[in-house]
Amino acid sequence: MKVFKFGGASVKDANGVKNIVTVLNEVGYQDLLIVVSAMGKMTNAFEKIADAYFLKKDELPVFIKEVRDYHYSIVNELFENKEHKVFSEIEYLFIGLTGFMIQNKATDYNFVYDQIVSIAELISTKIVSCYLNDSAIENTWIDVRECIKTNSNYRDAKVDWKLTEKSIVTKINPRILYITQGFIASNESGNTTTLGREGSDYSAGIFAYCLNADSLTIWKDVEGVLNADPRYFQETQLLEQISYTEAIELAFYGASVIHPKTLQPLQNKGIPLLVKSFLNPKKKGTHVSDGKKLVPETPCFIVKKNQLFLSISALDFSFVVEHNISEIFNLFHQYKMKVNLIQNSAISFSICLEDNFNLIKNLLAELSNKYKVVCFEKVSLFTVRHFQNKNIEELEKNNKVLLKQFTQETVQIVVQ
Ligand code: ADP
Ligand code: ASP
Ligand code: MG
Repeated sequence: MKVFKFGGASVKDANGVKNIVTVLNEVGYQDLLIVVSAMGKMTNAFEKIADAYFLKKDELPVFIKEVRDYHYSIVNELFENKEHKVFSEIEYLFIGLTGFMIQNKATDYNFVYDQIVSIAELISTKIVSCYLNDSAIENTWIDVRECIKTNSNYRDAKVDWKLTEKSIVTKINPRILYITQGFIASNESGNTTTLGREGSDYSAGIFAYCLNADSLTIWKDVEGVLNADPRYFQETQLLEQISYTEAIELAFYGASVIHPKTLQPLQNKGIPLLVKSFLNPKKKGTHVSDGKKLVPETPCFIVKKNQLFLSISALDFSFVVEHNISEIFNLFHQYKMKVNLIQNSAISFSICLEDNFNLIKNLLAELSNKYKVVCFEKVSLFTVRHFQNKNIEELEKNNKVLLKQFTQETVQIVVQ
């Protein structure tokens, strides 16, 4: 059996959905399970609904209209027959959304977020499943919440592998072509959970693992895994083969083309991951497996923008030692900062951070009670794997360097 995953970019409009038919007809759809994620940027749009539900109820109708209009414009383009069951299925999901918002008494934001944001995945898969059926690609829509089981850590739920494997093996008939959702799952009480943003690659990895699949293919709007993020680097090169470990490293440092958690289950069973272009399905793309580390052997560039760089020293110029560091890290944890790089010297401690929850002011207020803190905002963190000296010179030439750190195969440079 094989598993395919189509991401948001592949189904961002009606043509994207039509293109899935083209891809499947070109590469075949025997013994396959397909994970499809929310259309385009719909997860962001549903996040706005969840926020408004909590904070600005008067803005709810505008945000709900936005997601309704987006989906209805796609289904209207795809389905000429306005009596098609896809229309009532989607309406049913929207009624469920409104019903939930009226009846809900829970005050836990994360719980509510998962119940709301998951609708985007359900709508998307309903549309794709119906469209494929109409295009002679017979398939069965399945609710992934019957398959992937997690704990109740809403928004970042942990997979219960035993239960998940059992459910998947029981529910999935390898002879049927299934269309299912990524990113969402359910807990013991049957409530919807989510696996963390961008989690649908991971969902596909979970299916591949539990089904002992021959391979997992994720279809992207790029040729495969490139040696640099094409949004920020002009000249990029396709990586034809990378090892799981190299892919995990690249994902860890922020190569956002693969979700980091996806790789572990595949590596455990030696299931190859193929990253291919949905625009050129016959092209080979990238092959991730136990094989060679990196083909071609070339430096790989990763950039994380919009970072914070803090330099922290004691007010009395004493050394920054263990108890200070543990205190500082507790504060990072408290203010949900993501630490991307640290460096310690005798009297100062430097950190490159990501402030995903907009809490830097509170953190700085607290830190400066005890420490002298210098903060640089909007800095970039460049990581170069398998670097050559000329790569470093190039980065240094064009930017003001705040910090540079080497390990054997990797250099990280924070620049302003
Ligand atoms: P989807 O959600 O549709 O599955 P993503 O948008 O999450 O796809 O991932 C694909 C995008 O990842 C590409 O369009 C590209 O801009 C970006 N990207 C970042 N780093 C890389 C890289 N090293 N190689 C290829 N794409 C990359
Ligand atoms: N739709 C979800 C998100 O945007 C999951 C995914 O696409 O991977 O985070
Ligand atoms: Mg994505």
